[in-house]
Amino acid sequence: MAEAQFHRILLKLSGEALAGSAGTGIDLPTVRRVATELADIKKTYPQVQIAIVNGGGNLWRGESAAKAGMDRARADYIGMLGTVMNALSLADALEQAGVVTRVLTAIEMRQIAEPYIRGRAIRHLEKGRIVIFGAGTGSPYFSTDTTAALRAAEIDADAILMGKNGVDGVYDSDPRKNVEATKFSELTYDEVLQKNLKVMDSTAGAMAKDTHMPLVVFNLNETGNIKKAIEGQDIGTVIKG
Ligand code: UDP
Repeated sequence: MAEAQFHRILLKLSGEALAGSAGTGIDLPTVRRVATELADIKKTYPQVQIAIVNGGGNLWRGESAAKAGMDRARADYIGMLGTVMNALSLADALEQAGVVTRVLTAIEMRQIAEPYIRGRAIRHLEKGRIVIFGAGTGSPYFSTDTTAALRAAEIDADAILMGKNGVDGVYDSDPRKNVEATKFSELTYDEVLQKNLKVMDSTAGAMAKDTHMPLVVFNLNETGNIKKAIEGQDIGTVIKG
């Protein structure tokens, strides 16, 4: 019988992973599918503690708005608000699926979520609640990949599970453009840097490398993959070092 390989994981969901086939906005059936999968994992492996960092690219990207003339910091604050909208949608779906969930935001908005306090996040996890970190790091110029690397280190996660939208791991070239692209099943962070592979942005990659945080990259669009990743099944690319 399969067993969970991790005790505490940080699941990174890109904003697009919540957008469904439209590619933008929040698609409730897609959000429910992810929530049902997580509820199922909580039933099978109640001892596995799950924290989530979700992106916001389905709603807004600060960098694009800055390129179109907006002040970058202000554009990034809108991006962070977008992540909170995603976080609340996911929390709602998780609660409806029977999982006690807490949203903790890096920018205080006490009427709708708890402020991020590290000890509190860990306490929620120990009580079996799923914790969703909203509003990124709370600072402009960062990404939610960096948030994932930062929070994973802060809560002492065993690994970051990075669910991609339609891509099942790290390839030597873009598999959507090159049919001969080959997938790596294992890599070190040094190899990612040497080969200039696009896994996460450089700030996030440096943080994950410095904290020796294992990273599992897999396709979120295939139902059951989050559980398989937790069981250590060979479904994507594992990065260590
Ligand atoms: N963002 C930010 N600081 C953070 C995290 C996110 O300013 O610490 C903003 C930034 O504008 C970014 C947007 O939030 O474009 C959405 O996050 P991200 O692009 O990482 O989402 P994803 O690509 O994972 O959907």
